[in-house]
Amino acid sequence: ATPTAVMVATGKGASQGVLIKGGNALEKAHKVNTVVFDKTGTLTIGKPEVVSAILFSRISMEEFCNITIAVEANSEHPIAKAIVKHAKNRLPNHKTQTTNDLTINEFEEHPGAGVGCKVGPKTVLIGNKRLMRSYNIPIGLEVETYFSDNEKLARTCVLVAINGKIAGAVSVTDPVKPEAASVVSYLQTMNIKTIMVTGDNRSTATAIATEIGIENVFAETDPLGKAERIKELQEKGMIVAMVGDGINDSPALVAADVGMAIGAGTDVAVEAADVVLIKSSLEDVITAIDLSKKTMFRIR
Ligand code: ADP
Ligand code: MG
Repeated sequence: ATPTAVMVATGKGASQGVLIKGGNALEKAHKVNTVVFDKTGTLTIGKPEVVSAILFSRISMEEFCNITIAVEANSEHPIAKAIVKHAKNRLPNHKTQTTNDLTINEFEEHPGAGVGCKVGPKTVLIGNKRLMRSYNIPIGLEVETYFSDNEKLARTCVLVAINGKIAGAVSVTDPVKPEAASVVSYLQTMNIKTIMVTGDNRSTATAIATEIGIENVFAETDPLGKAERIKELQEKGMIVAMVGDGINDSPALVAADVGMAIGAGTDVAVEAADVVLIKSSLEDVITAIDLSKKTMFRIR
């Protein structure tokens, strides 16, 4: 495209809330035949809420809440925020009769899996099954049952392990964005393949993908894995757009032919992307592709 055409289209995009960084993305977007969507915060609203909490050990709900608050207060993850909010509600008067030490040490974030640290003398891990497995923490039958019951309902379960044993679990729900299904079906009418990629587990991811009408799911994928999946698609000749909102999406946003960041997403994602969807609406994935089509047609 000529510099003038790029300038005109970029300006037009900006006025519609689609920020296109440079001519390259604009020239490529019309060729996209695969759109990969991150799940949390991209296809879903990204404001999860706790629906239930269950104890699997002889710990009081009070202590369980105190420990999860102390740990998750250090994480920016939306699930962490939901857990803190819910646990605080369960402890109405902060007079937490906990005599235990809640000092946090050695806090560590495991992207796409959870968090871990010392809480006083205790070792605590909060996250998915993959995190627990990587620390060789046994997952019993009652835990598995809680998971499968909740995951069928498109909920995500998070485990809390204290000193190497599962102490309890929390289940969260994160509703799908209202426009997600119609955007996906419109892309499909444009002969564009739709794929979900997520760090979340397979059953929850599949339940949500089915709800939206997405054909393919890459679940239990860490940030670098997301980029790997994109590269594999490209090796098969696909021209790939990646839509994401999180730090965990930035390698994939960079790897994609066109990286699109949700405007309300993290700064890191917005920086890594070629296109920023300022209004945070998935409909603007189509706006961006259309804009590129129109620009390239006019030039021909
Ligand atoms: P997505 O790819 O869908 O945006 P993430 O990669 O951010 O999801 O996270 C994947 C999974 O890792 C979550 O579903 C959750 O089980 C777990 N997880 C990540 N961070 C945390 C945290 N701070 N607390 C609890 N669980 C977490
Ligand atoms: Mg996300």
